Amino acid sequence: MMQKVQQPKLIDVDAMARWVRDNGVENIITGMADAIETDFKRWERFDKVARVASHTPIGVIELMPTSDGEEYAFKYVNGHPSNPARGFQTVTAYGMLADVDNGYPTFFAEMTLLTALRTAAVSVMVARHLARPDSKVAAFLGAGSQSEFQALGMRGTLGIEDVRVFDTDPEASEKFRRNLEPLGFKVTVCDTGEEAVQGADIITTCTADKANNTILTNDMVKEGVHINAIGGDCPGKTELEGSILDRGPVFVEFPPQTRVEGEIQQKPEDFPVVELWKVFNGQEPGRESAEQITIFDSVGFAISDFSALRYLRDSTKGSDLLKEIQVIADPDDPKDLFSMVNSPLLVS
Ligand code: NAD
Repeated sequence: MMQKVQQPKLIDVDAMARWVRDNGVENIITGMADAIETDFKRWERFDKVARVASHTPIGVIELMPTSDGEEYAFKYVNGHPSNPARGFQTVTAYGMLADVDNGYPTFFAEMTLLTALRTAAVSVMVARHLARPDSKVAAFLGAGSQSEFQALGMRGTLGIEDVRVFDTDPEASEKFRRNLEPLGFKVTVCDTGEEAVQGADIITTCTADKANNTILTNDMVKEGVHINAIGGDCPGKTELEGSILDRGPVFVEFPPQTRVEGEIQQKPEDFPVVELWKVFNGQEPGRESAEQITIFDSVGFAISDFSALRYLRDSTKGSDLLKEIQVIADPDDPKDLFSMVNSPLLVS
C-alpha cells in the first residue's frame, strides 16, 4: 500500500496578517532576528548562490534559493519602484520550503509582509552588533512599505522611540507619522534628508528608485553613526555617495551578490568587506569604537528568507492559520502518473 503524500500547508495573506497582529510586530522581528543569526552562524552548511534576477528598465523579478542539506527554500520577489504610482506595491513576494529527503514542498507562504518583517529582522540582527548600544535617535530616508517595520525593529532591540523621517513624497512621511505616533514613537517629519539625519545615531536609507542616487551624502554622516542601507539592492540602484563607503567597515551578507547589487557596486571588485556571519561567529570584529562609522550594505539574502519561512512555519504549527494546498500530484502507483488523467473520455 502506497503512503498517501502529505500536501503542503499554506499561510495566506489573511493568515499572515492575523499571525502578525496576534504576536506583535516587534516580538516577531526580534525572534526572527535570533533565528536568522542562528542560521548565519552555520553559514558553511548552506548552498549559497547570488539570486537569479530578470531585469527590465522598470523593475526586477528575482528567485532566491538556498538549502542547508535538510530543507530547501526559495523566494520569488519583485522590485518595481514605479509600482506605487500605478496602485501596485514596489515589492511583493511568496515562497516555500521543501524537504530535501524526497524533494516535496512542505510549506508555502505569502512573503510580502514576511519580507518586510525579515528585512527589519536582518537590520536588527546587524544593528545589535554594529550600532552604538547608547543609540537614541534613528533617521529614516524613505517612508514606504518597509519603513514602519524597520522602526519597530529598532525599538524592539535598542529601545529607540525618537525617529526622524524624510521622504520626497510628503504623504508617505505623514503615513509613517500616523502609523507610528499611536504606538508611542516621537516622529519628526523633515523637509530634507539633511534635516532628518540631524543628531541621528542610526540612519536607515529605504528609498525605491532604479537609479544611482545620492540619498545620503558624505557630509551628512557624522562620527559614530551606524548606516543601515537597504534600498540599494539592484545593479544601477544605489543610495549612498560612494565616498561614505571609505569612512568605515562595510558589512555584507553574501559578497558575490552584494558586489553586483549593493552599494559596493560603485567600488572596485576587490573592495574590502566584512562578512556578517564571521562577525556573529567571532571571527571578525563588529564595531570597534564609539567614533567608528559602520555601514551595513543590505541587499537581502536567501538564507534570511529560509530562516523567516522556518520561523513562521514553526510558530504556526498546528494552528488554524494553516490551510492545505494541493500542489503535489499523488498517483496511487508512483510510476503511473498517467492514471490520474486516464479516463474513458480520452478513448476516441
Ligand atoms: P516603497 O516604494 O514602498 O517606498 C519607497 C519610498 O522611497 C517611497 O515613499 C518614495 O517616495 C521614497 N523615495 C524615493 N526616492 C526618494 C528620495 N530621493 N528621497 C527620499 N525618499 C525617496 O518601497 P519599500 O517596499 O519601502 O522598499 C524600499 C526599498 O528597499 C526598495 O528599494 C526595495 O527594493 C528595498 N528593499 C530592500 C530589501 C533588503 O533586503 N535590502 C528588502 C526589501 C526591500
